[in-house]
Amino acid sequence: MAHSRVAIVTGAARGIGAAVAKRLAKDGLAVGVVDLAEDACAATVEAITADGGKAVAVGADVADSAAVSAAVARVSQELGPPTVLVNNAGITRDNLLFKMTEDDWDAVIAVHLRGAFLMSREVQKHQTEQGWGRIVNLSSTSALGNRGQANYSAAKAGMQGFTKTLAIELGKFGVTVNAIAPGFIETEMTAATAARVGVPFEDFKAGAAAAIPVRRVGQPEDIAAVVSFLAGEESGFVSGQVIYVAGGPQD
Ligand code: NAP
Repeated sequence: MAHSRVAIVTGAARGIGAAVAKRLAKDGLAVGVVDLAEDACAATVEAITADGGKAVAVGADVADSAAVSAAVARVSQELGPPTVLVNNAGITRDNLLFKMTEDDWDAVIAVHLRGAFLMSREVQKHQTEQGWGRIVNLSSTSALGNRGQANYSAAKAGMQGFTKTLAIELGKFGVTVNAIAPGFIETEMTAATAARVGVPFEDFKAGAAAAIPVRRVGQPEDIAAVVSFLAGEESGFVSGQVIYVAGGPQD
């Protein structure tokens, strides 16, 4: 069998990360399924292996540098050197500015920005050594501004600057770095937002869909399809881009 590439997807226990991990496995990559708790990754890993793919579950907090080093080392030992990294792990701690606590701010910045920084710094060692790599960072349409999300929008705008800088630094090593900025995707994250504002999820989704040009909300697989392209062999001349995957144009 041809030598298969190895990917790491963070926050892959559920939602967008799980769909991305499954899609990359279908594409023929071996996948390190990383999430906070190793046992939470079991369903994703089982789905991949049941489908004939290869995956390993790894528990790690992406904001913890020792845990990140250990996670990347484990994937490397068990699957081979990781050359595809999808920085997907994320949390929300929504609040209007005057009610936002320092913990709300720090937690969101830590998972998204520190997490993507630590993971990328660790994985680029393998990518530069192999002379090939792909990093895909999850931004959001919230990067453009969203009421109640000062912390999250700052983190997601930060992901875009981080993406462009890594693209500039790593291009000469055969590594491309791009960001995907999803709009409304149906996951536990958006279900939690609906619960927080006290609207039944079905109504919340219908309201969102009505405002989206394609008249539907997104599914995790919509994001996974774009990751598949950006993580693949044919996207090597696409780097430093932010691709909005939101069912319509963004400002
Ligand atoms: P989700 O369903 O909440 O899944 C996020 C996953 O990340 C969870 O499994 C979570 O684990 C994990 N995670 C959280 N903190 C972590 C950490 N420190 N280390 C490792 N894993 C961690 O969210 P989603 O909707 O799939 O979102 C995935 C990404 O897309 C996020 O970056 C999000 O900001 C972005 N995004 C989502 C949407 C949307 O509409 N859903 C839109 C734009 C962008 P636990 O369950 O243990 O917390």
